[in-house]
Amino acid sequence: MSVCGACAGVQFTPFFRAREWSVSGHYVSTPTKPESPVAIELEACRCCGLIRQAPDRLVPLNYDQIVRGTAKQIPDYAARIISSLSEYGVAKDDLVVEVGANDGTFLKELRNSGYRNLLGIEPSTQLAETAASSGFTVLNDYFGRRLAQQILASHGPARAVICRHTLEHVPDICELASGIADVLALGGVSFVEVPDTDWVITQLFAHEIWDEHVSYFRPQSLARLLERAGLQPVRLERVRFRDTRNLLCWSVRQPTAPLLRSLIEDEATLTDVDHFQARWDAFSGLLRARIAAAPRPIIGIGASHIQLNFLNFTGLDDIDVLIDDDSAKAGRFALLAKQVPIRTTADVVTNTRKGTLLKTAFPYPDWQARICASLVPYGVGSVEPYDLVQAI
Ligand SMILES: [Zn+2]
Repeated sequence: MSVCGACAGVQFTPFFRAREWSVSGHYVSTPTKPESPVAIELEACRCCGLIRQAPDRLVPLNYDQIVRGTAKQIPDYAARIISSLSEYGVAKDDLVVEVGANDGTFLKELRNSGYRNLLGIEPSTQLAETAASSGFTVLNDYFGRRLAQQILASHGPARAVICRHTLEHVPDICELASGIADVLALGGVSFVEVPDTDWVITQLFAHEIWDEHVSYFRPQSLARLLERAGLQPVRLERVRFRDTRNLLCWSVRQPTAPLLRSLIEDEATLTDVDHFQARWDAFSGLLRARIAAAPRPIIGIGASHIQLNFLNFTGLDDIDVLIDDDSAKAGRFALLAKQVPIRTTADVVTNTRKGTLLKTAFPYPDWQARICASLVPYGVGSVEPYDLVQAI
């Protein structure tokens, strides 16, 4: 067993096991022979509470080819992140590196705030090109200690490193965190943002577990990782974003003066971690029974990874229709136990006169409510899945 990337602990226990019929992001134009499902297996470190995909059973993915822009994902607290940089002495012409720059969305926010010396790192070729087309210098590469040395040689040390929703995707979190520490000037600040897995555990939100996330952080494991890499976490907080919650962590490399520290604690206990799978299985069983008794067709709202995770993990993998207006999905098929047609909102609202809506558009409640309200006059009911959590 490989050691914990956050704390170097060696004792892990199973956290969650489920299957999925396809890796995320695969949709097909015509029905084909169903694939064999792959297993997702997560385990929890007994020392620091980090949850991770079992290292010898990682779901294989290749970010060179993955294209998922983040232009619509700038949170309302982005301005607060950017204004915090000056509190740590980052001047407008200091080098600011963004690890996982995606399509340049956050670099634009930095540029709009007056930061002039920006460098993005992005492994996806297409996303790196998109960011570069907005006028940014972008290295199309994976970030780690090797690239940190290359940046030091070509640009000098960074005064700030931003790393938002990237750390949870990489197989070697120690390598990435060490690279951040390496590339930072003494006294420089790093800002790391990841999903808060305490929220997943306490809310029983297994739809937030997905194959692209290798590591699942909670406050203690995130702080331990950054400390071990040579950074001093000074501010660690949690913030809600839509139906999820994120951890925001500011760390300083070898602060020249003592800094006030404000770090939150883990919310979920080890017992909560141990009971997660049993609670999920109980919930899934109730939901499957509820859906088995509901009029067909069963229509799931949303066809992105969140909804497909949910359908895979609950075993509701034989539903009849999915609704999604994304042009990359509508008109195609999602790969579940059977291949499920994806139809637009307009198509479903116009042509559906029976069946049951499954309210799985968790981040988009207004869209979901409009669809449900449109079909109420025809007797099409709806099921709110997580309402059943109260019954377990
Ligand atoms: Zn650990």
